[in-house]
Amino acid sequence: MAQQSLPVTREDLLVRRAKLEKSLAVFTDDHQITSLIDEVDSALERMDAGTYGLCETCHEPIEDEYLAADPLARFCIEHLSTAEKDALTSDLLLASQIQAGLLPQQGLCAAGWETAYLYRPAKIVGGDYCDLLVHDGRLYFAVGDVSGKGVSAGLLMSHLHATFRALVAQDLPLNEILFRASRVFCESSLSERFATLACGIARDDGRVEFAIAGHTPVLVAGASGVQKIKATGLPLGLFCEERFFTTGTSLAPGDTILLYTDGLTEAESPSGEEFGIDRLIDCINPGNISSPQGTIDACVREMEGFRKSRKQSDDLTILALRKV
Ligand SMILES: [Zn+2]
Repeated sequence: MAQQSLPVTREDLLVRRAKLEKSLAVFTDDHQITSLIDEVDSALERMDAGTYGLCETCHEPIEDEYLAADPLARFCIEHLSTAEKDALTSDLLLASQIQAGLLPQQGLCAAGWETAYLYRPAKIVGGDYCDLLVHDGRLYFAVGDVSGKGVSAGLLMSHLHATFRALVAQDLPLNEILFRASRVFCESSLSERFATLACGIARDDGRVEFAIAGHTPVLVAGASGVQKIKATGLPLGLFCEERFFTTGTSLAPGDTILLYTDGLTEAESPSGEEFGIDRLIDCINPGNISSPQGTIDACVREMEGFRKSRKQSDDLTILALRKV
């Protein structure tokens, strides 16, 4: 039976093969490289035969996340040997610890803003990005979502984290930060992937600048209601010369900014209906707003009530900032 949407394409395998060939030119006759090339060729043959991504023991599809991390995998997780299973588990735990170490300080108050966030990967490792960074008296904030799932998405998320932080430290304007981050993404070997990002700079006087690269709308709750700030550009990494735009607003004490990933708005009820942005807007109605943590708790409570018994299938990140 033909499989639907594999996490690995023929192109991915061919890119991998070309890289191995290149290494072989440097390390001539390296046994490990030649045997990896054989494995890639055998994966390509399985793709032709329509058996790629199926476990050789049970013939069931190999877990997407695992196959994306190891495109040469021939067995599902259940049918790996004990030694392979142990190695995989310890790799995953290490990756999740590294990822947790990249998260910003919880409850950070800086530059006249108080903040809180929730970061909940669907699996051990996630592809969401959440960051807060104080630079030169300004608060930089970001929530992003990297394409793909699991370990490979987690690696890209840490790549985005490092890029964003390095660019902020260079005192660049926000549109320039996005332009360069997108270029780094595009020119890296990970070019088949992209990331959506909502980020901004919040100042002590209440001025906030946003740049939203293909990400879900940012919500701003103030005395006059909830405002939706829509994407100002395409996702990062689609084209090397992509340009980005910013938009600004001025917020008063008590006003709250909410950034989130689609794990929140696309959470589904048992009948398959999406939670959606309108329900989210109701949760952060100015009348319901308290602290940033209270705002996040209210959104999660509402979403979980809607989702009921349905399991979390996507990474979930929510970041709230409130002007003091
Ligand atoms: Zn199996």
